[in-house]
Amino acid sequence: MPSRKFADGEVVMGRWPGSVLYYEVQVTSYDDVAHLYTVKYKDGTELALKESDIRSQSSFKPRKSQSSSSSPSRRSSSRSRSRSRSPGRPAKGRRRSASQSREHKDDKKKTTQETSLALPVLVLFKPSENNTKRYNGEPESTEKNATSCIILEQKLKPDLEIKRVLEQYSLRPRKDDKKKEEIYSEKKTFVAVKPIEKVSTKTKELEFGGRIGIFMLILLLPATVFYLLLMCKQDDPSLLNFPPLPALESLWDWRVFGVCLLWFFLQAAFYLLPIGKVVEGLPLSSGRKLQYRINGFYAFILTAAAIGVLLYFEFELHYLYDHLMQFAVSAAAFSLALSIYLYVRSLKAPEDELAPSGNSGYFIYDFFTGHELNPRIGSFDLKYFCELRPGLIGWVVINLAMLLAEMKIHNLSVPSLSMILVNSFQLLYVADALWNEEAVLTTMDITHDGFGFMLAFGDLVWVPFVYSLQAFYLVGHPITITWPVAAAITVLNCIGYYIFRSANSQKNNFRRNPADPKLANLKFIPTATGKGLLVTGWWGFVRHPNYLGDIIMALAWSLPCGFNHILPYFYVIYFICLLVHREARDEHHCKQKYGLAWERYCQRVPYRIFPYIY
Ligand code: NDP
Repeated sequence: MPSRKFADGEVVMGRWPGSVLYYEVQVTSYDDVAHLYTVKYKDGTELALKESDIRSQSSFKPRKSQSSSSSPSRRSSSRSRSRSRSPGRPAKGRRRSASQSREHKDDKKKTTQETSLALPVLVLFKPSENNTKRYNGEPESTEKNATSCIILEQKLKPDLEIKRVLEQYSLRPRKDDKKKEEIYSEKKTFVAVKPIEKVSTKTKELEFGGRIGIFMLILLLPATVFYLLLMCKQDDPSLLNFPPLPALESLWDWRVFGVCLLWFFLQAAFYLLPIGKVVEGLPLSSGRKLQYRINGFYAFILTAAAIGVLLYFEFELHYLYDHLMQFAVSAAAFSLALSIYLYVRSLKAPEDELAPSGNSGYFIYDFFTGHELNPRIGSFDLKYFCELRPGLIGWVVINLAMLLAEMKIHNLSVPSLSMILVNSFQLLYVADALWNEEAVLTTMDITHDGFGFMLAFGDLVWVPFVYSLQAFYLVGHPITITWPVAAAITVLNCIGYYIFRSANSQKNNFRRNPADPKLANLKFIPTATGKGLLVTGWWGFVRHPNYLGDIIMALAWSLPCGFNHILPYFYVIYFICLLVHREARDEHHCKQKYGLAWERYCQRVPYRIFPYIY
């Protein structure tokens, strides 16, 4: 193990947890076992930081002249400039010379006009104002966030709200630097913010019932998939009518496994096509941003074309129906192999590339939850690829195979109305996910969870084989529904979709560009990390409006299957459990990230998913 880099008493720059802001801190001690430095911020806050979150002061070069266009940071800051209309701009202004103050004021005025904000700009000072402003030449991300995170413009109910925010965060409207120095020297900043949990490289709180829970899940998840598929094939799929177990050798077919591999690599080839824009993900803990190619919808179109060609040449797609169980077994074997590969490679991953949730040190836990956050082979991002491509597109293809199987088995010239509804609703959902592929970059799966068995199995087995259960059910258990019933179910699906889509887009747009004029009518609570929490719009209705929309849609997908059996309702029941649990996990993370601001948000928006119920 390399020896420690920073000595006790040394004054260095420490990254503030959950952000890419660096502040002056003093090293007070070092834990040889955990490899963590305890550092003290100027306001007295003590945190434990990893070495990768600490930099020497010399790496932050003092700014010589703000107007110097030859400064490296200026040269490289086209991005910063493009964000200069963002609320972050005034922070940059703080580093300006006095001669620029007039220009700065004009800029500020312009920004305010452009974003149609109702109130003057507030300066939300950093949790601990150190001497960051005196430094320049730090990596681009620090520069950008120093500008973007510190200032938040709010459209708020005037003075009262401002006063409350200022009091809560010990914020002061921007006046002059001297005044600021006084404020900070009094160490008044951040006093009201709950201390954010100490940064640790290890996952201390085990989720999913710890190692025993995880062990059970690893067995239970595949067992559930096979149980559901076997049940669905039965004439009477009542819950207690357990299906006979198939012979083991009948579960494996090399040809089927070959088709699975072909499918995976075909989707990988589509992913690698140099079509579609390349976007940046949210900043990692190191401040780095990964790049992602957005071409999922193109992959979807190409897949549709390929399937069209197969059908044209009379390829019998219901082969999928006939061998569904074997496909599920092959996909499960593949996802297991992938998870083992992911775990093995994660052992060599640098500490700062590990997932915050999957670094417990327990093999089974890290294997399941995912040890490495963003495993990549070159620029090929394995998690991002699996999240939306092979499984999600595979789900739609399986649905189509079920539709064709229904027509063939029941000798129909057109599919049943129920089958059409299930296929159309789920096609819409998948097409929407791929069309809005960029939105996945701000989800928990990408930003928080590592890539391990949980996501590999979930993406490649659970989604295609469990989510297609309604279509599979309808092949063997036809249901006749009337047009008015179909219309009512369609309306329900549209309502769910509208809530789901608009809530996700609202949050995604807000996270990507809080100054987006389209969001100017929304209010938010500022947090110590610089990110805001929306308190109006969908996110002011309940704390997870997107989950609500998703659950409504899930119900609409099951209703076309009638009420003869509970089996087709498995999806909606499971989904409610999943999202309630997921909501609790997210709530926990948000509380850690945002402290008091999150508590205030919860007071303002008391219901989690279902208004007036939960
Ligand atoms: P969300 O997209 O809901 O993201 C949660 C994050 O949003 C929080 O961690 C927080 O992150 C941010 N956030 C929370 N409250 C606010 C607020 N008031 N203002 C602004 N930002 C806020 O989580 P998921 O990744 O779980 O879900 C994404 C979508 O995927 C949902 O529609 C869900 O229904 C769907 N989904 C579907 C599944 C399926 O199997 N079909 C499975 C799981 C999810 P931060 O502050 O760090 O930005």
